[in-house]
Amino acid sequence: MTERDDSNPENQSPEEPSACGLPSNANIDAPGSVSRSDEEWKQALTPDQYRVLRQQGTEPPFSNSFWNNKSEGVYNCAGCGTPLFSSETKFDSGTGWPSFFDAVDLEHVGTTVDSSHGMSRTEAHCKTCGGHLGHVFPDGPKPTGLRYCINSASLAFTEESPQ
Ligand SMILES: [Zn+2]
Repeated sequence: MTERDDSNPENQSPEEPSACGLPSNANIDAPGSVSRSDEEWKQALTPDQYRVLRQQGTEPPFSNSFWNNKSEGVYNCAGCGTPLFSSETKFDSGTGWPSFFDAVDLEHVGTTVDSSHGMSRTEAHCKTCGGHLGHVFPDGPKPTGLRYCINSASLAFTEESPQ
């Protein structure tokens, strides 16, 4: 079976990279309860997790664990296990990164201004361990109008059946 789809309307425009695709250089101030040395983090995390969480890196869109995950459950911090996002607030943003319109608890997800790359973006991080998660943009759906654009590498998913 051959499938032609050269008229695929989902073609991404390479000239318009999503701002999620750029690494961050934010000054994260998260005096949380989990604190480790850089060497300890390197031991505890996979290279991808370390690069995103501790070095504010990013991962490629559409080629990460959770962008298209539709299972019910909770997304915890891959660094410290703190619950950060729920499948109930996950939506398809079309960006290729897992996107949420709200956090489980704003006590768990902190934000700070990231002015790297000549842009002013809102960086998001885990308040417990200071791990970088992604960015927050003001173009999300109702009711919050926010889009948390999060790297899969910073998340650990726990599947839960609906109540
Ligand atoms: Zn954490």
